Amino acid sequence: MNESMNESPAIFDPNARPSLVGKTRAQLAEALAAIGVPERERRMRVGQLWHWIYYQGSTSFDVMLNVSKALRAKLAETYTLERPQVVAAQLSLDGTRKWLIRLPPVDAKDKGAEIECVYIPESDRGTLCISSQVGCTLTCTFCHTGTQKLVRNLTAQEIVQQLIVARDMLGDFPGLERPEDGGLIPVGEGVRPVSNIVFMGMGEPLYNFDEVNDAIGVLTDGEGLSLSKRRITVSTSGVVPQIAPLGETSGTMLAISLHATNDELRNKLVPLNKKYPLKDLLDACRNYPGAANSRRITFEYVMLKGVNDSPKEARELVRMLKGIPAKINLIPFNPWPGAQYECSDWETIETFSDIVFNAGYASPVRTPRGRDILAACGQLKSETEKLRARARLALDDEA
Ligand code: SAH
Ligand code: SF4
Repeated sequence: MNESMNESPAIFDPNARPSLVGKTRAQLAEALAAIGVPERERRMRVGQLWHWIYYQGSTSFDVMLNVSKALRAKLAETYTLERPQVVAAQLSLDGTRKWLIRLPPVDAKDKGAEIECVYIPESDRGTLCISSQVGCTLTCTFCHTGTQKLVRNLTAQEIVQQLIVARDMLGDFPGLERPEDGGLIPVGEGVRPVSNIVFMGMGEPLYNFDEVNDAIGVLTDGEGLSLSKRRITVSTSGVVPQIAPLGETSGTMLAISLHATNDELRNKLVPLNKKYPLKDLLDACRNYPGAANSRRITFEYVMLKGVNDSPKEARELVRMLKGIPAKINLIPFNPWPGAQYECSDWETIETFSDIVFNAGYASPVRTPRGRDILAACGQLKSETEKLRARARLALDDEA
């Protein structure tokens, strides 16, 4: 299914009322102060707004019946509860959904940056893949985002809004209808359609640390969106100095985009490696606050034909991760126009994955999802079944 919802460009409106959706508690308190709510009342009012915005998913101040009529009118005069626009929605045959979200322009030159958000339902979870930046300043040679110049960091509000949009689209707020093709959302009883979040969309989250951290605070607030910290994974290409602070402040799960077992190759694939080489990166992982067998670090390894996919490298990978509570995720390379790499052959991936598997690591291959809408890696058809079953097995032991 392909649905284009709005083709017209976004126009900057200097008089637009700001949306409160996605704001932190501190920002909501400021918004209330700006319309004259006295300090002694603010905490209580923030609590009320919080419940309506994040627990109920309200789109209008009118429904906030525990807020006085006068204050509701004042709020509506100054603010909105608008979400960013979904300009295109796609639904894959396997239930994966992709939304193109247009952010409101920040000035007259801005036509509204666009970010993609991907939703992957599975039997025991629903994972939302979100972005932390528009584009990326880093230039990993196998990554399409790396060829785009950075437009800007996303604000915490824009990061949180990605989940709000997903919950709207999936009918996952009280009173909303599930989409008609809701049968494609197989997540089990008691599990919300979006139960997990991965920062694996556009951008390097640890280069936008403060906003990402604030966003995680909103996403995991027990009185609102209530996601579990253990179900949020931040993926980094290896911004070493920010790894310990991430563990200390956010307490989320960590994923490292490793992709190579020696500095020479990793310098080429992930140029940030020249600044923070493998030894420093692995030391930071060893010391990651909260890392334990029950909270393992995920190492992502993209399978590039003839580049990093030999059995020797598989053995090397296992050797270098010794002593770190780790999971390994092999990602079939997802080609894009102009890319200088190809995805490894399936037999090669299988051989590599067997070595990793026999060394005691589960979850070796990330099953490509939403191939029909994402143009994911090559012609992986029935050959994937075996590995898919294994990957599914391994997923069971994730949080
Ligand atoms: N910047 C962060 C998070 C976003 S990228 C990071 O690099 O970790 C999320 C994951 O997708 C990373 O592991 C990245 O290496 C991987 N990736 C990027 N381009 C890819 C491609 N063309 N095919 C497969 N995986 C890719
Ligand atoms: Fe792509 Fe992540 Fe590298 Fe940025 S850091 S270029 S998003 S792989």
